[in-house]
Amino acid sequence: MINTDAKIILDISDLHAEVENQPILRGVNLQIRAGEIHAIMGRNGSGKSTLAKVLAGHPAYKVISGKVIYQGKDLLSFEPEERSRLGIFLGFQYPIEIPGVSNLEFLRVSSNARRKKLNKKELDTFEFEDHVRNKLSIVQMDPAFLDRSVNEGFSGGEKKRNEILQMALLEPEVSILDETDSGLDIDALRIVAAGVNQLSTPTTATILITHYQRLLNEITPDFVHVMASGKILRTGDKKLALQLEKSGYDWIDNDSTNNDLT
Ligand code: ADP
Ligand code: MG
Repeated sequence: MINTDAKIILDISDLHAEVENQPILRGVNLQIRAGEIHAIMGRNGSGKSTLAKVLAGHPAYKVISGKVIYQGKDLLSFEPEERSRLGIFLGFQYPIEIPGVSNLEFLRVSSNARRKKLNKKELDTFEFEDHVRNKLSIVQMDPAFLDRSVNEGFSGGEKKRNEILQMALLEPEVSILDETDSGLDIDALRIVAAGVNQLSTPTTATILITHYQRLLNEITPDFVHVMASGKILRTGDKKLALQLEKSGYDWIDNDSTNNDLT
């Protein structure tokens, strides 16, 4: 919900980044306040996942210039693990399978790392089992998934639910969900969306990267941004997403009301 008195949690200014010596982000500016939900849309290849990975600290993506201030700190100076402990969560477009690693133990270790940072008591296996069971209802997940290897043999929808379960356990301040809706049938989409809605609070912020308006029927964004060629070309509200659904991206390319015509 928009509240202009709320504090800015994440402030991205003139961010340039490259991968494999190719410039991908070309001056991203984005300010996110506590309590807000921002949707980022845009064609394939426009740089949406790159922005998410740069914020999470993926080592293949090199920041060339610009700043990202997270809760008053220089986010880009921290290692990826520290960013996660500090409350940045990235839900992957393609969650990876980790055969041989128990889902329960994986969730426990990552949750404890964050709990330590929050000055909360770290949980042993028995305590964590109780804790995680309370969170399973958020994503309507069967406890049997805790005993399996991380994501191994999970369906697309089950992987995405597992991502949201992880989000629930990590209690992030900023959640970046990269195409969490892709590959989901409508029931799974609704479950995932309800989970995200339940976890969005006045003190957290959410960035939803999505191709489709249908996710935004379930989660109402405060702002909708359109990325093109590594920049945010345009910002609007939910109506902008509806317009994109109807007319595609072509009309926006040369529109005179864009943020940036360079
Ligand atoms: P989006 O998520 O908007 O579809 P991406 O951020 O994934 O776009 O990709 C933006 C551009 O960066 C694309 O041209 C893509 O091929 C390129 N790119 C992204 N990651 C890599 C990589 N690891 N190696 C080479 N090129 C990459
Ligand atoms: Mg992507």
